[in-house]
Amino acid sequence: MDYALKKDKVIELRDVNKTYPGIVPLHVLKDITLDIRKGELVSIMGASGSGKSTLLNILGILDNYDSGTYHLDGVLIKDLSENRAAELRNRMIGFVFQSFNLINYKNALENVALPLFYQGIGRKKRNALAMEQLERMGLADRAHHLPSELSGGQKQRVAIARALVTKPSLILADEPTGALDSKTSKEVMQVFRDLNNDTGMTIVIVTHDPTVGAATDRVIRIVDGRIENNV
Ligand code: ADP
Ligand code: MG
Repeated sequence: MDYALKKDKVIELRDVNKTYPGIVPLHVLKDITLDIRKGELVSIMGASGSGKSTLLNILGILDNYDSGTYHLDGVLIKDLSENRAAELRNRMIGFVFQSFNLINYKNALENVALPLFYQGIGRKKRNALAMEQLERMGLADRAHHLPSELSGGQKQRVAIARALVTKPSLILADEPTGALDSKTSKEVMQVFRDLNNDTGMTIVIVTHDPTVGAATDRVIRIVDGRIENNV
């Protein structure tokens, strides 16, 4: 395959299928074909149970698929060892979740610095890089506060700073505004928008909320495990 033709595609899925095994196997993703280009801010929108998180977990190399192909930055993601998957994930992808997934007993700075600890980076450099991302999120003055001392919107901005600290090429967010009120939700979407404008980072946001979808450049609709339209 000609890499030169594909290099502007961060994500390329072709006929991806996924079934959860069980007494009654559940065919969750059905012939998913989609491309996401470098620098896009896109949403994947669908009702609860439509397969959004399953799809995002595959994109994030957190889960496998049964058939089809997934290329991430031109690299075929299929049957990877757990080590190789972790290596690609840590190098290329930043994750943001509905429930923030911050560590309660660590302050904002320590939470943001944690991915760098796993990369073996020394404390001084870790803290400097983490502070840089907190500053970008307008949270420098909250660096030494625990998550319990932060509002929902602040917690999500800490989580976004943590996703950014390893300088990934792709941000994957699963219902990032799902736990926030509508005003805070708008603010968090503006954070993603600014990030996309300022850095050209590719951002994929999974949501069931049409106002979140409307705040992205392109909405990919998923209905009962199928891509319905690719606007
Ligand atoms: P969404 O994020 O759009 O709400 P999910 O991808 O979480 O949808 O789930 C899609 C379907 O797959 C649902 O019916 C859900 O119950 C089922 N499902 C999700 N994860 C698993 C799993 N690990 N094992 C079995 N079924 C699952
Ligand atoms: Mg989900």
